[in-house]
Amino acid sequence: MNKSYQKLIKGNQIYAETKKFQNPEYFENLSKGQKPEYLWIGCSDSRVPANEITSTHSGEIFVHRNIANLVVHTDTNLLSGLEYAVKSLEAKHIIVCGHYGCGGVKAAMTNTYHGFVDNWLRNIKDVYFKNQEELQAINNEDDKANRLSELNVIEQVRNLAKTTIVQEAWSHRELHLHGWVYGLRDGLVKDLSVIHNGQEDIDS
Ligand code: ZN
Repeated sequence: MNKSYQKLIKGNQIYAETKKFQNPEYFENLSKGQKPEYLWIGCSDSRVPANEITSTHSGEIFVHRNIANLVVHTDTNLLSGLEYAVKSLEAKHIIVCGHYGCGGVKAAMTNTYHGFVDNWLRNIKDVYFKNQEELQAINNEDDKANRLSELNVIEQVRNLAKTTIVQEAWSHRELHLHGWVYGLRDGLVKDLSVIHNGQEDIDS
């Protein structure tokens, strides 16, 4: 069978053996349940894996990923995960993590036809339109795309704050929303300091 496919099966065996060798109860303990403190909303890009870049382990982060880390109010997939993470798992922090060099963000800056995904990227075009004065003043296309990645994260954190799920949680407990951008070139996250801790942090 295809070598690149077999690599995954082998890799999984090595993973399971290594974990069991380090801690014989590792999987037994994990199988009892999860109580992650964080919900991660990130880009599907293969170079931005939530656990790996934060040095966290299985069970620590509840993850939702889509193209360009969008929080769309009609996305039942995202809203279902958000509700479960906030209500059932009682996550304390929600992190929207975008990244520089995002293909989705770059594609949204063009008028080229990409297929069905253009409907999804429409949301980023809206962010561009909202910030066009600032963005059009940037001459370098890469710098412009990187700034749009940041502005996109800020907008998605705002979208998150506007959901009934987050607002309902704020009515009786603490829940912190954060916006990050990850650098593919240096492996570091930049905290954009768009922290929303409650109703007072959003537009009336
Ligand atoms: Zn991306």
